[in-house]
Amino acid sequence: MAPVFEQRAADGAGRLGELRIPRAGVTVETPALLPVVNPNVQTIEPARLADEFGAQALITNAYIIHGDEDRREAALDRGVHDLLGFDGPVMTDSGSFQLAEYGEIDVTTEEILAFQRDIGSDIGTPVDIPTPPDVDREQAESELEETQARLEVAAGFDAGEMLVTGPVQGSTYPDLRERAGRDARAAGLDVFPVGAMVPLLNDYRFADVVDLVAAAKRGLGPDAPVHLFGAGHPMVFALAAALGCDLFDSAAYALYAKDGRYLTVRGTEHLEALHDLPCECPVCTEWMAGELQDAPPAERRDALAAHNLHVSFAELRRVRQAIRDGDLFELVEARARGHPTVLDAYRALLDHGDWLERGDPASKGAFFHVSAESARRPEVRRHRDRLERLSVPGTLLLCEGEPPESVDFDDYDEVWAVVPPFGPVPPALEETYPVTAEVPERVDEPSQVAAARAVARTAEANPESAITLAHRGWPGAALEVLPSGVDLVDLGA
Ligand SMILES: [Zn+2]
Repeated sequence: MAPVFEQRAADGAGRLGELRIPRAGVTVETPALLPVVNPNVQTIEPARLADEFGAQALITNAYIIHGDEDRREAALDRGVHDLLGFDGPVMTDSGSFQLAEYGEIDVTTEEILAFQRDIGSDIGTPVDIPTPPDVDREQAESELEETQARLEVAAGFDAGEMLVTGPVQGSTYPDLRERAGRDARAAGLDVFPVGAMVPLLNDYRFADVVDLVAAAKRGLGPDAPVHLFGAGHPMVFALAAALGCDLFDSAAYALYAKDGRYLTVRGTEHLEALHDLPCECPVCTEWMAGELQDAPPAERRDALAAHNLHVSFAELRRVRQAIRDGDLFELVEARARGHPTVLDAYRALLDHGDWLERGDPASKGAFFHVSAESARRPEVRRHRDRLERLSVPGTLLLCEGEPPESVDFDDYDEVWAVVPPFGPVPPALEETYPVTAEVPERVDEPSQVAAARAVARTAEANPESAITLAHRGWPGAALEVLPSGVDLVDLGA
């Protein structure tokens, strides 16, 4: 079968893609958000999810449908699309979540896959073992072995045109997640959910999510479509997209609404605590906060669910446009300013710099230097790597800003600019991305340290050259990374 996923554009490890769903005969544009529809309680009717919110596909739980005799027969008779009243692709879950919550379920992988195929599911899921975070290694390994055995069964199952997922488990062990990703991919499955993330997401352990998803992605390779299972809060969409996640699902919009919780891209608010509704969606322009607080419970819940969905889909659209424009990192930086746990996760993402750099395009729209973390972006690393390969003259003056009149140009073979956080910029690269970046005039210390590292790298790669650095009042933290052979001139801040 032809590959079902194709990447169209990239930004860091994030990408725009197309996921072909053969059974539905449609292509889903990714990153995509799939609302979770509970077959028992439909907070917002599935047809509305498509028409009003732009949901391209949705997820429902085949295990719950299977567990109720009337509904099971109806689904087998009419198909899951008719049952839900939704024309687009329907992905089904298998009961693994129930297994994690209640400890046992009463169907096998073959039975539940056959049921999903027979009710017309477009993407079906085997019963894997969602190992929770922080279990001992022995448990994580033995459950992973069981999951892998079930994925082998799923790969051999006659699914017809239905795509089949290969969940990636491994608890909080990055090496197990990486191995699980490699094995799931090798089994020949189609879509790869990174599983058992809900406990981490609920506890705001986003930095752990970053490390584990990055590990799973290393194992899966760049061509695999990845679903961050259970990620339904818009505050993490930009971050997760920057990690290379292609699919998200949201049960949060309805669950949070039930408890009076109001989602924003910066976190969660309680409706009771809001004096104003800080949002432009149709719900928040129609209702005053006080009116919504006093509304009958069912009406309040439905209005909150609609707001939660509007916020979530708007953020997904913003993420897609940011990848298209090459400024996904700027969006992630903005989100990182909204909550310390997201900032922590962004820093964790930057720790995977070599991996991020691999998929990052050499040229993008614009680089906005807006935080101390900007100095650690993959574009800065790439520029530093590039310096090692440049030919450096016998005597070189590196000068930050305009050279003062006291400098005699005849003393040097060449004069290059120094631009924090990038470091040395030879004249030929002055007009190229990323050194065309917009940087603030008041340079911060992390940028100066990053620039000093780049100077050091250049000096170490060219021990024959005599290099002078004229800097604008760099602090000790920057100067101490320079090798002793570099002559220093302080031009003052
Ligand atoms: Zn709203």
